[in-house]
Amino acid sequence: MHCPFCRHKDSRVIDSRVNEDGSAIRRRRQCPECDRRFTTIESASLSVVKRSGVIEPFSREKIVSGVRKACQGRPVPDDAIALLAQGVEESLRATGSAEIDSHEVGLAILGPLRELDEIAYLRFASVYQAFDSLEDFEAAINVLRAGRLENGADLDDLDLGPVDEDGSPTLL
Ligand SMILES: [Zn+2]
Repeated sequence: MHCPFCRHKDSRVIDSRVNEDGSAIRRRRQCPECDRRFTTIESASLSVVKRSGVIEPFSREKIVSGVRKACQGRPVPDDAIALLAQGVEESLRATGSAEIDSHEVGLAILGPLRELDEIAYLRFASVYQAFDSLEDFEAAINVLRAGRLENGADLDDLDLGPVDEDGSPTLL
């Protein structure tokens, strides 16, 4: 690595530190020529390709702020949002790709957000999937309901409208 001050062709590593979640390593370096010190950060390259074709570096902060917006007024602690963003980043990095479509980033957020808060999920999905009618919301809510049934949720917890004489919801 060239020295950024005098362009000397070599530098010496004097300290290495892996960051908290192990996703990057910081190296403190010193130039043997001018003795000045500088820091390099090494991490696996991960870029997001936006719909416009613009490529920008992946940012966990952006996920946090997007999810936080969707969670406004909901009982979701910041810790949970930070964990979600970390999980999303890990799952995207686990694909091994250096470039990921913004669409895939959105998809990777939807699953865990649904587990976190269904209202926030609907808000996020409505923006991300560009809902433009009540029917779009209805379809998304039906998917949520179907998911609850699969998870063995108690039918009494679901507001599925009028109930037949035998106690089963008329909608089923
Ligand atoms: Zn130097």
